[in-house]
Amino acid sequence: MEILRTVADLRHWSRTSRCKAQNNASPSFALVPTMGALHAGHASLIRAAAFSCEHVAVSIFVNPTQFGPNEDYARYPRSFDADCAIAEAEGATVIFAPSVEEMYPAGPPSQIATFVEVEGLSNRLDGLSRPGHFRGVATVVAKLFNAAEPDLAFFGQKDAAQVAVLRRMVTDLRLATKIVVCPIVREPDGLALSSRNIYLSPAERTRALILNRTIRHVESLVAAGQRHASALIAAAREIFATEPAVRVDYIELVDWDNLQPIDTASPGSLFAVAAWVGATRLIDNTILS
Ligand code: AMP
Repeated sequence: MEILRTVADLRHWSRTSRCKAQNNASPSFALVPTMGALHAGHASLIRAAAFSCEHVAVSIFVNPTQFGPNEDYARYPRSFDADCAIAEAEGATVIFAPSVEEMYPAGPPSQIATFVEVEGLSNRLDGLSRPGHFRGVATVVAKLFNAAEPDLAFFGQKDAAQVAVLRRMVTDLRLATKIVVCPIVREPDGLALSSRNIYLSPAERTRALILNRTIRHVESLVAAGQRHASALIAAAREIFATEPAVRVDYIELVDWDNLQPIDTASPGSLFAVAAWVGATRLIDNTILS
């Protein structure tokens, strides 16, 4: 497994590996964008990518432009050697781990002139509570897609709003990369895996289960025939109220394509929650069937 540090090297690698691909008719090159601190959720994306494609690049880049000024950019977990071992074990053929200067040559965020803004979606869900977050995500993913030109790019449903933003970006910019979405990987007790779970104390770790409990309860209501957004959201609020130390950020039922609120759930609707467990903000969701 090679480790690349520059955009030029990634571009060169992608072009030469595409030429060498044995079967040019099928997708040959996948990209799995991550911020590192890899866990079984990331591993599932890399595995799925390696199953579909001959060449798999995993990017590891803690992207400063998607963090707000008072967020955890500086203390975000970084574990490069362990990440490389996981990526290689799951079938990655290259790691792309650029510096901040390599990805943002103009200097700090205040000096950057060019961003990708997916209007109408970037200010919904996580974008509402984290202004600028999705602009940072779309910008860095556009840079990665532009450099690597992957056939497929793998993302987790865990970040469902991010998926909606990036799908729209791909459509609007007529990018050639196809986005593949993989299911949420959970701990045995239901907690969605997240690099931020390591911030939780043992007591907070227990409280954090309320997110998944809420999601499961809403799924059971929908299965029993409840379709009204107001009833589903009210039921979710009641579940959260049983854990008063957890502060709800949002509870939303939306159309997954445009992230706009909907009154009635239908197959494919996104029910998503975000909540603060102590100083840690966690998210979870379900795509209703
Ligand atoms: P991150 O490193 O947090 O930016 O995440 C990189 C990718 O891994 C994103 O596409 C996430 O949606 C995905 N991911 C994170 N957690 C999980 C999980 N528990 N299950 C599946 N995918 C995940």
